[in-house]
Parts: sequence; structure tokens; C-alpha cells
Amino acid sequence: MYQHILSDLQPYDAQLVAVSKTRSHDQIIALYQQGQRIFGENRVVELVEKHQSLPQDIEWHMIGHLQSKKVKSIVSLVSLIHSVDSLKLYQTIEKEAKKADRTVEILLQLKIAKEESKYGLNKDQLKEIIRHHRSQKLKHTSIKGLMGMASFVDDPMQVKSEFTRLKDTFDECKIEFFKDDPSFHILSMGMSGDYRIALTCGSNMVRIGSLLFG
Ligand SMILES: *Cc1c(COP(=O)(O)O)cnc(C)c1O
Repeated sequence: MYQHILSDLQPYDAQLVAVSKTRSHDQIIALYQQGQRIFGENRVVELVEKHQSLPQDIEWHMIGHLQSKKVKSIVSLVSLIHSVDSLKLYQTIEKEAKKADRTVEILLQLKIAKEESKYGLNKDQLKEIIRHHRSQKLKHTSIKGLMGMASFVDDPMQVKSEFTRLKDTFDECKIEFFKDDPSFHILSMGMSGDYRIALTCGSNMVRIGSLLFG
């Protein structure tokens, strides 16, 4: 399945985040031995433990909702945080990264699903964070792009329209804020059930768990 997914991604030059939440060390090592280096977790405790026990050249991505009070414990371990969903969380990451003397790469999460339970910013809140980042010349966070999760529905047209909205917002931000800044380039969208749709809508980073680990 791993090679199959990689060959789906290849024409789009998209990166795979192997979502390893709840998976055992052995399962992760098996994928690592096939060459996978980027793994995604959605819980802080699990990420910290796996970071400690597994090979040090793994790049850990935080993909799930993150509480501000837990930022401190992962700020030196993660290579990308996908799930920045409030100004407060953004400011906490900037503050803790400064204390740790590093720059943390982040994505801003746009709420695109209709479902109430999904976290994420609306477009105004998202732009407010980018404006804050720029006007304050904050140096300990680097905004690399956007992330979003579509509704869990069987209707591909709905999923497609949600992903398209995310891609449109990405393009709008690129033009408005990052025209001359190549670092804003990641569009993280697509999971096991909808990654093919996401790729046709412009995704260049997919987060896949169940399809990969079975
Ligand atoms: C669990 C999870 C995924 C992967 O979901 P699968 O359907 O197992 O591929 C992707 N993104 C986030 C934010 C997740 O929490």
C-alpha cells in the first residue's frame, strides 16, 4: 500500500505524512525501513514518547488540535505544526519557540467542513494571524502554508468544493501576503478517504493513516 500511495502522489509532487497516531513502534519502524521519514501525531504525550524512542531522523508533524499549555513540551521536537487554529495558540508557539531559541514551522488551519466539531479558523481570523506575524516581524514562527479537513461525507462534490475553498484561500494569501516569499508553499489537505480528490484540488501534502497502516 505504501508504494501504491507514493505512486499516486508522485505526479503531483506531493509529500506524504504517515499518520501514526495509536500505531505501535513496530508498525512505525516497518514503514521507516521502507524509507518513510515524516510521521504525524495528534496527541502531545504520544508524540513526545515516540520522538524519544524512535529514530532521531524522523520528522514529527503535529497534526491535531493543540492546547496552548502543551506547546512548550513539543516546541523543540516538531518539524511542522499543521493545526494552528487560534491567534492565542499562534502567540504561544512564537513565545515558546523564542524561549527555546528556534524557529518553528507552522500551517494555519482553515475550517472548511460543515461539521460543527471540526477545529479551524475562518478566513478573517486566518488573515489576522498573518498580519500580526508580519507587522510584529515575528521570527520564531515561519508560516509555511495552510491545512484543512473536509467533511466526512460520501458526496465527492461536497468534498471537492471544500478543498477548492481551501486552495482558493491559499492562493489569495499567497498573493496578498507572500508574493515574494517562497516559504509559503504547503497546502496540507487529504486523508485516507479523500486524498485523491485533494490532489486534484491542489494539495501538495497529504496526511494518511488508516489506508497506510490498515
Ligand atoms: C487521523 C488524522 C488523519 C488521518 O486520517 P486517516 O483517515 O486515518 O487517513 C489526518 N489528519 C488528521 C488531522 C488526523 O487527525
